[in-house]
Amino acid sequence: MPTKQDQMSHPRYMGIPTFMRTPYQEDPAGLDIALIGVPYDGAVTNRAGARHGPREMRDQSSLMRAIHHVTRINPYELCRIADIGDVTFDAVFDHKAVVCDIEAFYERVHAAGVIPLSAGGDHSITYPIMKAIARTAPLGLIHIDAHTDTWDQFQGSKFMHGTPFRRAHEDGLLDANRTVQIGIRGAQNTPEGWEYSLEQGMRVIFMEEFTEMGVDAVIEEARHVVGEGPTYLSFDVDGLDPVYAPGTGTPEIGGITTIEAQALLRGLRNLNLIGADVVEVAPPYDPSGNTSLVGATLMYEMLCLLAEVIANKRA
Ligand code: MN
Ligand code: MN
Repeated sequence: MPTKQDQMSHPRYMGIPTFMRTPYQEDPAGLDIALIGVPYDGAVTNRAGARHGPREMRDQSSLMRAIHHVTRINPYELCRIADIGDVTFDAVFDHKAVVCDIEAFYERVHAAGVIPLSAGGDHSITYPIMKAIARTAPLGLIHIDAHTDTWDQFQGSKFMHGTPFRRAHEDGLLDANRTVQIGIRGAQNTPEGWEYSLEQGMRVIFMEEFTEMGVDAVIEEARHVVGEGPTYLSFDVDGLDPVYAPGTGTPEIGGITTIEAQALLRGLRNLNLIGADVVEVAPPYDPSGNTSLVGATLMYEMLCLLAEVIANKRA
């Protein structure tokens, strides 16, 4: 069973596109890290399109190479990594059924002892992922986003892309005191999401504070908040400025730059990360493909983080 990415076997524009040109294998058994697509955007409040994220990120991820130029980590030397495909849905217009399908898929991954790195999909997918992997203890969370995603409901629906961390917290999957939300901004019609996060004890770093603190201080704060316990990393691409990531459903100007995002992720080495995702890449709003390239590159940064953590635990 090939589990190593073979960068030189053929040119990068050739072959069937998997994430990072890793081998495709349906069964997660024997892997350390599974790359997974969740092509679902039935829970957005406005502009759909993130269902096309996984396929476009797979395509753009063929531009990724192996060795990280700063850390010199080669995740493919450290870990067994494969693309295990997309979550499939029995009833794609039934959101509750979709939540169950996502949870069941990640339960299978978790049961195999495999760390998931996922491409969304809208942000509602993170709730069922957390349901599957936070079985034993509530998780810490590093959440980069323009939005806290701790609202209660939208137009009568409790399950949508602005509520995953409220639901996760209510279910005891998320430790509010070990949660940091970074890059928050943009006007809202009600402050209740912001207030919920703050009232529950989450550390909310609004964009203005991010700018004032600088990336290094944000990293220090994030590491302090999540500590040594198991932690999930979730990156909503709308946390970036739409200059860098216009292909997303709810863009907010005045956001994080790509170089700040890379610095931020590189500052999260050797935390106890047990999963990560990049969500809300909506290719139809960015015909240049750049948002998908950005999303794929963020996934590569996360892959290096996860691989190092796994290798260190093994040692
Ligand atoms: Mn979000
Ligand atoms: Mn967002």
